[in-house]
Amino acid sequence: MAIEILFLGTGSAEGIPAINCTCEHCRRARRENGKLAREREAVLFSLPGYDLLVGTPPEIRSLINKYEVKRLDGILATNADYGYIGGIKEFEYWHGPLDFLAEENLFTLIKQELWTDRLEKLMFHIPYYLGASIYFGASSIIAFALRREPPSFGLSIKEGERRVIYAPDAPPVFTNYARRLMQCCDILIVGTPVFEPDETKQHLSVEEALKLKDEVKARQLVLTSITHHNKPHDELEEWANKFQNVKVAYDGLKLSL
Ligand SMILES: [Zn+2]
Repeated sequence: MAIEILFLGTGSAEGIPAINCTCEHCRRARRENGKLAREREAVLFSLPGYDLLVGTPPEIRSLINKYEVKRLDGILATNADYGYIGGIKEFEYWHGPLDFLAEENLFTLIKQELWTDRLEKLMFHIPYYLGASIYFGASSIIAFALRREPPSFGLSIKEGERRVIYAPDAPPVFTNYARRLMQCCDILIVGTPVFEPDETKQHLSVEEALKLKDEVKARQLVLTSITHHNKPHDELEEWANKFQNVKVAYDGLKLSL
């Protein structure tokens, strides 16, 4: 069995074109659309017998319709940012029960802003704990911390001997524990909103992600969570093609492991 990965949105919390932005990247995205345009971050991980949606941006309803996602078993939140989870209320009209996986403090934050009685009726909160595996039959997920404030989490998803790391909203410095989980993974998916190192140290850059790939000996690096501060898709892809096993995600990309 395999892990199927479908990128519904790859545009971080802002999306491209960003609202009201007149930068060349956004202007090109409006003109040419295609892979230059990115909806906000959402990825569907299909594990054997369990379809898990990670991230529910405000446009999740149209993304679910566009990619004809008919089945979901659970939704997992990695942070409480509006761009990543603001569309959770759309699931008030989902047919059937859903699991909602969120770390306890994260769930408290989401409940303060975005939770409703309807969601409470159809979603069952399953907390995940850092460093502890959640098992889905032969598959498992371990969550790890990426940022303390505001809280943000990454995932190590395992199916048999295959492992995928998903860290959409990460600063450039990782814990030793996170780096250990990343060691020799098959696919390292990291959010890189910017190309060059960010002076505020809040976001991982493309250059730092490439270094991380080599350091943890990941077999493949996939860049996602890309904003208009990064290079446009075609330029970034051209750059990535200079390296082995480096891919730039785009909306609609499917990967199988
Ligand atoms: Zn822009």
